[in-house]
Amino acid sequence: MKKIVLFICDGMGDLPHPSLGGKTPLQEASTPHMDELVSRGQGGIMDVIGPGITPGSDTAHLSLLGYDVKAVYTGRGPFEAAGAGIEILEGDVAFRCNFSTISSDGLVLDRRAGRIREGTKEMASALDGLMLEDIEVIFKAGVEHRGALVFRGPGLSASISDVDPHEIDKPVLVSQATTPEGEKTARILNLFVRKSQEILEEHPINIDREARGKKPANIILPRGGGVVPHILSMRERTGMSVAGVAGVTLVRGVCRAAGIELIHVPGATGGRDTDMMGKAEGAVKALQNHDMVLVNIKAPDTAGHDKEPLDKVAIIECIDKAVGRLLDTIPEGTVVALTADHSTPCSVGGHTGDPVPLAIFAEGNRSDMTKQYDEISCSHGGLGRIVGRELMPIMMNMAGRAEKYGA
Ligand code: ZN
Ligand code: ZN
Repeated sequence: MKKIVLFICDGMGDLPHPSLGGKTPLQEASTPHMDELVSRGQGGIMDVIGPGITPGSDTAHLSLLGYDVKAVYTGRGPFEAAGAGIEILEGDVAFRCNFSTISSDGLVLDRRAGRIREGTKEMASALDGLMLEDIEVIFKAGVEHRGALVFRGPGLSASISDVDPHEIDKPVLVSQATTPEGEKTARILNLFVRKSQEILEEHPINIDREARGKKPANIILPRGGGVVPHILSMRERTGMSVAGVAGVTLVRGVCRAAGIELIHVPGATGGRDTDMMGKAEGAVKALQNHDMVLVNIKAPDTAGHDKEPLDKVAIIECIDKAVGRLLDTIPEGTVVALTADHSTPCSVGGHTGDPVPLAIFAEGNRSDMTKQYDEISCSHGGLGRIVGRELMPIMMNMAGRAEKYGA
């Protein structure tokens, strides 16, 4: 049986751009290694969730891993919590949170507490482990003002309204049940918010912040609650042990929820080139003791959101070198798929439902006439136009890992 590498360039799909003479960044970039990959293998395009559907990075990665998104996705909360390092269990209710600033008369002054950067870990540990009625509170700080909250215990539901007013100078909202099942959770959530204010207002970190004229992070505002669904691990679903190389919290959360072992790539701060090269090297290393590796590279998505087509071209050229390193060092016969989780066109500045390019190569498998790796060339390839959920079975078949369907 062969090994599998799934190389996902976040938001790399794009549209023609006037400042690139009507080409996409992939068409404009010089990508000898990506072109070699598709020349030796097959090209195609892919609707990651379905035709015309705009994916988020979380739903897109679930789909690329072969999950039925409608069955396993209940909102961003559970994956954010998993990405923050909380071990989520089926039936938990998980939220994304902000450390925020509230005035003494109860108005939200700053939803990000002055973009707080320090002390959130200490404050989070003052909230982690609280018991509210028979519900256990698990709370972890994330990057900057962000945090993740999990409620664990009997009778929880996500049928509740938000407490975050999403605007400043407004009072914190009281969560209401939207169905009778949500009553307990709404009550616990309101209790948690009050408790967070009581505890954080007195917290030494905030007393110190106020003394230095900084906004205190004196309340937690949770949002986007979701019940943790039953998610079969990748090993249960495919029999493979899977490793993940990813920096983004949300993608890390999807990996953790799917039972994918996250690999730490050291020295991933040495600039764009070394970062991507390090990820390719980390992936090859992880293949030594895993059947499959998923790699996520975030940078193209950021350039798309920032509407920087020239920057995106430069990023793609860096990724191309990493693809070259990967192709040179993977074990003989490895199945390699190169794709994106969605399009983030520089002309739009956000995700769109346009299909993404796909190339799959494995020694001894078919090739087609595709010579260049980009959105347009790949659309003529032998893989045709598939949906994201079909990718895993195609790779599993090429890797000699598919089970016979029928007698
Ligand atoms: Zn993405
Ligand atoms: Zn994005």
